Amino acid sequence: MSIEKDNRIVFTLDLSGRFIFYTDGNATYRRSLENKFLRIKHIASRRIVEQLSEDESREIAEAAYSFLRSTYDDLPQDLKDSVSEALGMNYDKLSMDAAKIRDIYGGEVPIVPPDQYFPVYVQAESGCSWNRCTFCRLYKDRTYGVRTLEDFAIHLHKIKDFFGKGLSARKSVFIGDANAVNIDQKLLLQMLDMVMEEFNLPIFSFVDAITTQKRKSEMQFQEMHDHGLKRVYIGLESGDPNVLRIFNKLMNVSEAINLVNKIKGSGINVGIILMAGAGGKKYYKGHVENTASVISQMDLGKGDIIYISPMYEYEDTEYYSMTKDLGILGAEEKEKQIQELKARIREEFQDFNGRALEAPIAPYDLMEAVY
Ligand code: SF4
Repeated sequence: MSIEKDNRIVFTLDLSGRFIFYTDGNATYRRSLENKFLRIKHIASRRIVEQLSEDESREIAEAAYSFLRSTYDDLPQDLKDSVSEALGMNYDKLSMDAAKIRDIYGGEVPIVPPDQYFPVYVQAESGCSWNRCTFCRLYKDRTYGVRTLEDFAIHLHKIKDFFGKGLSARKSVFIGDANAVNIDQKLLLQMLDMVMEEFNLPIFSFVDAITTQKRKSEMQFQEMHDHGLKRVYIGLESGDPNVLRIFNKLMNVSEAINLVNKIKGSGINVGIILMAGAGGKKYYKGHVENTASVISQMDLGKGDIIYISPMYEYEDTEYYSMTKDLGILGAEEKEKQIQELKARIREEFQDFNGRALEAPIAPYDLMEAVY
């Protein structure tokens, strides 16, 4: 539900009183279930996203709930009933709520795709079955494992209890962690059925271009589609063989093209995730040109989407040690590369297919990908 005042202040929260969005006229703030507060501002044509410190987060949470309490008397009775649980909410209670969700997932959820910030996250597997990309530290501390059906059933019930009435604010289910579609097909289909039975919402997941191609056929994707899987996200990052090699994404670009085309053939939509700055200054041109060429060979249409985020080079990754040789692009250079990628992908797709690319190309920031 959303409460708005003077066309300026808007507070959106779920029926359990959890903060979702707050706009104070200057910026918009989003809270993740793990209690991370993001400030989102638009300056000129740029979208600037920053994660707030704990003190700043507390200040915003208190401002939002004070706003709610100050407007309560003027609300219609049905809305009063709906927000009553939220009246006693504050930053400390939100922190306790976040501790519960970390407990359910055995730690923080490392990432969700750009349009899946508000799913019900369910963990069919823990970690990444590959876990060897040089730039990635998402699942380094997580031992890979697949849940049993019994354990998965308990997990789903814990999640349902956690959300309570707030479940109505969730519009999809995301099955994690990194490559849940790789799970043994029979077990996976049973898990999809259990998710549908509990939540009855469209299901989304990641695939990885390295191992999924070898493990799943188009027919198996069709079965997943029949059992509720609507879209999968693939962290392609780049279509340049040199960049993929230094990322240790051990695949041939034709495998990534085949993977996407067989997923599309099954009726499931795809989200392709690219990174601006991948391969640094050394591979700048190859990254733009080869990525456009690879994307043009994918059978993308209206229900698909391409996301481009600036790359974050973390010092504690193997990739970082290579950046001395590669050179790191600054923020403006990455922004410029995003624009170049967008233009080249559209041109190349048109040239290769004789039709315009209908899938939107959306910039986003990995920092926003918090659960
Ligand atoms: S496949 Fe994805 S999650 Fe796994 S290591 Fe590579 S980038 Fe990270």
